[in-house]
Amino acid sequence: MKFHRRDFLKTSAAAAGTLALSDPYAALAASFPGAFSGEKIKLSFRPYTLELKHVFTVAVSSRTTTPVVLTEITCSGRTGYGEASMPPYLGESHASVLNFLAQVDVSKYENPFQLETILSDIDAIAPGNTAAKASVDIALHDLVGKILGQPWYNIWGFNKEKTPCTSFTIGIDTPEIVRQKTREAKEFKVLKVKLGRDNDKEMIETIRSVTDTPITTDVNQGWKDKNLALEMIHWLKDRGVVMIEQPLPKEQIDDLAWLTERSPIPVIGDEGVQRLADVKKALGVYHGINIKLMKCTGMREAHKMLTLARSLGMKVMIGCMTETSCAISAASHLSPMVDWADLDGALLIRNDVYDGTKVIDGKITLMDRPGIGVVKV
Ligand code: MG
Repeated sequence: MKFHRRDFLKTSAAAAGTLALSDPYAALAASFPGAFSGEKIKLSFRPYTLELKHVFTVAVSSRTTTPVVLTEITCSGRTGYGEASMPPYLGESHASVLNFLAQVDVSKYENPFQLETILSDIDAIAPGNTAAKASVDIALHDLVGKILGQPWYNIWGFNKEKTPCTSFTIGIDTPEIVRQKTREAKEFKVLKVKLGRDNDKEMIETIRSVTDTPITTDVNQGWKDKNLALEMIHWLKDRGVVMIEQPLPKEQIDDLAWLTERSPIPVIGDEGVQRLADVKKALGVYHGINIKLMKCTGMREAHKMLTLARSLGMKVMIGCMTETSCAISAASHLSPMVDWADLDGALLIRNDVYDGTKVIDGKITLMDRPGIGVVKV
């Protein structure tokens, strides 16, 4: 199918400034008379450092820790939990998130059900800071879900039995370590392989020497030439690769559109698709989008991106950073509606502080708990 991307861009640019503000959950506060009288909504937060089980290597960097900030929003005797995760290559840090959160005043709102109003105001404090914004968004969703006594998959009307299997990432490493990591990952029904260095074929062949499990790949913008990329995608498809993320730099839009038109497997935009306004621009450039709470400011916008992408006939993937079970559980409530889930972030760390959504036999398994479904451990 041939997309007329330029015509579409014109239309979407015109529409971008005219999104109406509605607050779909605000009226629910009336169902809890007296619950919010006089009590202010409170936000608290603290920095925390996640320790990774293995050195994590992608096309652009290696690291052994990830800084996060853990948030809590309290109101009406309940506490909602949230989290910001800041892998260094995305530009946020402990300092930037703490600084941003110090500017957030949730005490001025009557009740937490005004999600749309509160989160739009917070988004307007400063551009960027998407992980910091997500940490408030997640805590607020958790709180509202707890007051309602419902998990978010129920509030959104999703079937918790329809969750997909999550992929498990095998990082770039020596053949020996890659074989060992692949054997350790035999519970998983999909493996994700990071490509974009000089050993791409070796990585795939090494994994294929151990298992036939379907593979999704992520180049993290590591390839530069569209012709070589297409050749490589055919080679990968012949070896059981079912999808590829961000094969070329996000700026090479025409090359990506060319590649997407010809690729025998779905091409998904990750670095090239951050927020709601990017979804329409991605039509024709990619077959689908990778939604991550930390880049799109949280559950509210992620749900809108999912809805819009689906209405445009696009594929949807939900991904993560290295995160505790807090942010992973928050993302997992959207997973019944996606084609692929890459929610292994909490499995890669040693020092999780929450218990929430689990991976059982490779499948994402949502808890029967209100809000995002996490408890402290
Ligand atoms: Mg990616």
